[in-house]
Amino acid sequence: MTQLNLFANDQAANGQAANSQTGAAEQGTIIEETEGLFNLPAYKIRESKRAKHVSIKISVEGEVEVVVPTRFERSRLPDILEKRQEWIEKTRAKLLRDRANTPEDWQVEQPDMVVFRWRSRDMDDASMQGQATASKAKAQKTANAKGKSKGFGKASAQQKVGELETWSINYDAKPGNITRCIPDRPYQITVSGNTDHLPACQEVLRKWLAYRAKKDLGPWLRQISFDIDLPFRKLSVRGQKTCWASCSTRKDISLNFKLLFLPRPLVYYVLVHELCHTIHMNHSQDFWALVGQKQPDYEWRKKAIKDAWRYVPRWVEAK
Ligand SMILES: [Zn+2]
Repeated sequence: MTQLNLFANDQAANGQAANSQTGAAEQGTIIEETEGLFNLPAYKIRESKRAKHVSIKISVEGEVEVVVPTRFERSRLPDILEKRQEWIEKTRAKLLRDRANTPEDWQVEQPDMVVFRWRSRDMDDASMQGQATASKAKAQKTANAKGKSKGFGKASAQQKVGELETWSINYDAKPGNITRCIPDRPYQITVSGNTDHLPACQEVLRKWLAYRAKKDLGPWLRQISFDIDLPFRKLSVRGQKTCWASCSTRKDISLNFKLLFLPRPLVYYVLVHELCHTIHMNHSQDFWALVGQKQPDYEWRKKAIKDAWRYVPRWVEAK
């Protein structure tokens, strides 16, 4: 499994930096919202049955949440937080800085454009903002030129590796409650139906993402599997909240459609990582040795994937 870190996570009580419970933030209920202590920002306290220790989570928005086990004595918190103050400030500042570097379209709720980076070898974040607009015009030109070709899958297969893949999204309001996503031309889709209903639009777009991921990432996974001689059984595509991909004991691989938004070197890392899980179902030394054998320069990618959430536009996660 390749973890998708949407939170910075700190095991405050025992001082270990750990993030094995990325999903835990969704468990339990918020029982208290607090004004900031010392120089700390305001934070929320969440009680969790699953939590064994106090842990501090900082969301990509810079919100601080303290997860405590049930019946944890609240009066102990100020001390714990004071000790972790430096970590909280540093981490929060980094997350907010990262966010400032995310593409402009990250906050968009109803996108009129989708940029996939999975074909792009460019890892440079600073260039992403300009590219999105520049490549929109380019994509449209390409789309017009290829306007006669039937089916939108075919056209994308003609795009060269190393490019951003830009799709424009049209909204076509129609009576009734059914919202559909219709591919009409290469690099262009239409969301049709109740287009005022944001969650419905986002939901059909997610379905479309899953379709694209299976169509585009599937063949690539099979090719890599063949190249590095690590066969798998079945591929499924989902929109996991906490991981980029996973591999079962039956060698079934499940990919997150959000991978479409990541630059190619990171997607490649995730695919090799999961294929290596067909041999080792853990993150043991043997596992990493195999990853290193199949992909000698994996270390920088492994590091870079930790911040890769910011490539995924906000609306993809919206509920
Ligand atoms: Zn793994």
